Amino acid sequence: MSDAFFEKLFGDSEPTHVGSGWISGVTSVFFGILGLGGVLCLHFPALLTLPDARAHYPVAIIRYLIQGTIVLALVLGAISALFRQRKVLALTGIALGLAAALLGGGSTPLPEEVKSSVGIGFDWFLLDLLVMTIVFVPVERFWPLHRGQKTFRPQWTTDAFYFVATHLPAQLITFVMLVPTTALFTWLAIPTLVHTVGTWPFIVQLPLAIVVADFAQYATHRAFHQIPFLWRFHSIHHSIETMDWIAGSRSHFIDILITRSLILIPMTLCGFSQNAMAGYLVFVSFHATFCHTDFGPRPVWMEPYFVTVRYHHWHHAADKEAVDVNFAIHWPFIDRLFGTYYLPTDAWPKRYGLADGSVPPGFFAQFIAPFTGK
Ligand SMILES: [Zn+2]
Ligand SMILES: [Zn+2]
Repeated sequence: MSDAFFEKLFGDSEPTHVGSGWISGVTSVFFGILGLGGVLCLHFPALLTLPDARAHYPVAIIRYLIQGTIVLALVLGAISALFRQRKVLALTGIALGLAAALLGGGSTPLPEEVKSSVGIGFDWFLLDLLVMTIVFVPVERFWPLHRGQKTFRPQWTTDAFYFVATHLPAQLITFVMLVPTTALFTWLAIPTLVHTVGTWPFIVQLPLAIVVADFAQYATHRAFHQIPFLWRFHSIHHSIETMDWIAGSRSHFIDILITRSLILIPMTLCGFSQNAMAGYLVFVSFHATFCHTDFGPRPVWMEPYFVTVRYHHWHHAADKEAVDVNFAIHWPFIDRLFGTYYLPTDAWPKRYGLADGSVPPGFFAQFIAPFTGK
């Protein structure tokens, strides 16, 4: 099964305008997934939820939230069924909502005690999906850069696939990275640094952590552009032709794994506190996603000092003058320092993506392509 299969199944080619039952259908499926996912988390918290997050949840609110998503899945599914000839979306949304309700809905009792030190982080994925959608869909609808661009534009299923494939195993990726990082830390950490930095207030540590992370990210990112073998993996991210929040998820697994590990190592060696590291992770997931959005307004005064949407859009430009520029993801001064800063006064890129069309379409083809070199 590929994303092209889903594209056909859900009828990407059929009318998607308001009144076609498309939007209600897609949102019904969206809420159905959230509702059923939430209920499953209540049933199997030890397996599905993050131990660190588990203790902090306001369970009563979460229960209402789950109940609400189930109701929305059913109501929107019914609306879509009324308006849309093809019922796949409506029936999928309703089936997900019904399954969630039959499994106990928001009132599913929690086990007396949850004892497990690992969990796959499905709870984090669902919250991530909900919050990102609530924040970024309105941002792009109300203040678009490209007026005609739709939320469901060509290849959106590919990028939605990437969102799931890269956000769902976040816990696994973190775990895989933590092993070498912890080992290195034991050997290389500088005790004086660790004892000093870790005691500074959060408000000082966080921006500093973002600077350290961005220097590491800059070096890794530039290597991914300049070493042909690594470019095979990173070119997947640059194959995006429509910039929006969901497109930001399009990155090869190897790209993510190497980049995140190489960012985490210097951060760990500097001895930032757990809170500062967690703060950085939340910040980077929002800032990196935001930089890809189709968001038109620009804070001109901020542009030279802090990475904005326009700054990162130029990194994705197909325009000749903007090849291999703007590698920093938070601080433009790093690009200035190394001579890769590019920001024309007012202009936006005319086109995005790769001129040579070297990346095949579709998630699975893109996963394999870098290994085969074709
Ligand atoms: Zn790049
Ligand atoms: Zn990007």
